[in-house]
Amino acid sequence: MHSVIFWFRNDLRLQDQAALQQAVAHAERHGQRLLIVYVHDPAQDDNTAWGFRRMGPHRRRFLAETLHDLSASLQALGQNLVLFQGEPHEVLSTLALRVNASAIYAEEIAAPEEQAQVQGLKEALKQALKEAPKQALTQPMTVHTVWQSSLLAPEALPFAVADMPQIFTTFRQRIEAVGLQPLPPLAAPRTLPPAPDVMPLPDQLPGWRESPWALLGLDDDIAHEVAADLRTEVSTRPLKDDEHSHFKGGESHALAHLHHYLTPPWPDRYKQTRNALQGLHISSHWSPGLATGAVSARTVWAALHAYEQQHGANDGTYWLWFELLWRDNFRFLHLQHGRQLYAARGLSSLPRPKHFPKDFQRWCDGNTGEPIVDAGMRELVSTGYTSNRMRQIVASYLVHDLSCDWRAGAAWFESQLIDYDIYSNQGNWLYISGRGTDPRAGRRFNPTKQTQDHDPQGRYRKQWLGA
Ligand code: FAD
Repeated sequence: MHSVIFWFRNDLRLQDQAALQQAVAHAERHGQRLLIVYVHDPAQDDNTAWGFRRMGPHRRRFLAETLHDLSASLQALGQNLVLFQGEPHEVLSTLALRVNASAIYAEEIAAPEEQAQVQGLKEALKQALKEAPKQALTQPMTVHTVWQSSLLAPEALPFAVADMPQIFTTFRQRIEAVGLQPLPPLAAPRTLPPAPDVMPLPDQLPGWRESPWALLGLDDDIAHEVAADLRTEVSTRPLKDDEHSHFKGGESHALAHLHHYLTPPWPDRYKQTRNALQGLHISSHWSPGLATGAVSARTVWAALHAYEQQHGANDGTYWLWFELLWRDNFRFLHLQHGRQLYAARGLSSLPRPKHFPKDFQRWCDGNTGEPIVDAGMRELVSTGYTSNRMRQIVASYLVHDLSCDWRAGAAWFESQLIDYDIYSNQGNWLYISGRGTDPRAGRRFNPTKQTQDHDPQGRYRKQWLGA
């Protein structure tokens, strides 16, 4: 019997999961089984060119929790999330032969490494077929990727993505002028086709890992602590004001948190509070769920829209839509400019950035001597999160005051942030360094002024720097 493979990537949810629904429809149409996998690429465990581990501990923990939650939801539907460590093309082509796959479905990710993974998979499948002529494959194995991480569908935009306005304000105004609205989110599947019965015991397959903690190399103590915490945690419990560093990964937590924030007066105050440095309700904190795909932007928007219907629209709710449009803008920028966004010069004709490794290290460690910057960098390393305003201040300081390479800063954020998102991270770093689409060259945030404006009493600095 044939099977369909569904490969989870940065879309770790069941609700509003178009790619999974297409895989299910394919399997049901042809009476096939469904194998559901997640693959952790060992490249994530390597050191970056800048000298630190690519995926830091907070992001690992958050991802492990997210996979744990997804796995539980799949089990409730009689399915399994099978976890592998290895290069995706190798793991998936090996599995495809073992389970006689007719098709592999996955989310489309418009970033160079992720695109290379899909290309590598297509080539590996071709090669595997050539090398296994006796395999009982009666139909070619196809790979289908589905774009599903933006709020608005690229094809619905009032311009071709290739002609997207370079200035955000124009981009937003063109969308708002035609009244473009996101499509409603899809419901989670109620049933799933069964896993292949010819599936060999997973532990006979190279790279198989028993649990998300083992997959992500989290030591047993942490694993047990987190697992126990997850079991006892009531996912609907609201977080207290100082608890943003305790965010739990996973769809059930992301959905619970989405609705907690959508309670008066928080969204109504968003425009006034969003530039504050700390506090659970100063901004939505939806980003960790959005970045892992535990919740989709359309689900977020539908909940926000329902809030507006019930409590009224205002500047705060409008500004949340505005920020979700920024998120989309950085996604479409990848569709528009691709690999160019990864060049040292970015989209600009500025000279290549300089770099001073010792200064960069002081920045990473929160030891630059500039208190507001050091406090922000220490918060980031301690929690895996810092506010948008702090990200702007510390990024600006690295690029404009320490004259370091923006790509090193982007790599450090990638390592540390629990809400690391390739599109938003790359786009914001380019923007701050004046190498993106911003018409104003370089956005320097003066640390003295930022301190006066956002931490006049020194509370934030005191919290992260001590006395
Ligand atoms: P809110 O202020 O409540 O905004 C609501 C949602 O809108 C966010 O969850 C996010 O999805 C989106 N959003 C808000 N601001 C931005 C923005 N500037 N760019 C893109 N989307 C935005 N965001 C990430 O999700 N992942 C990253 O890796 C990331 N790296 C960044 C790097 C730098 C240098 C800077 C300056 C910003 C970066 N951001 C990144 C954007 C922004 O800081 C975070 O999205 C935001 O702080 C998340 O907190 P929140 O969910 O409370 O956001």
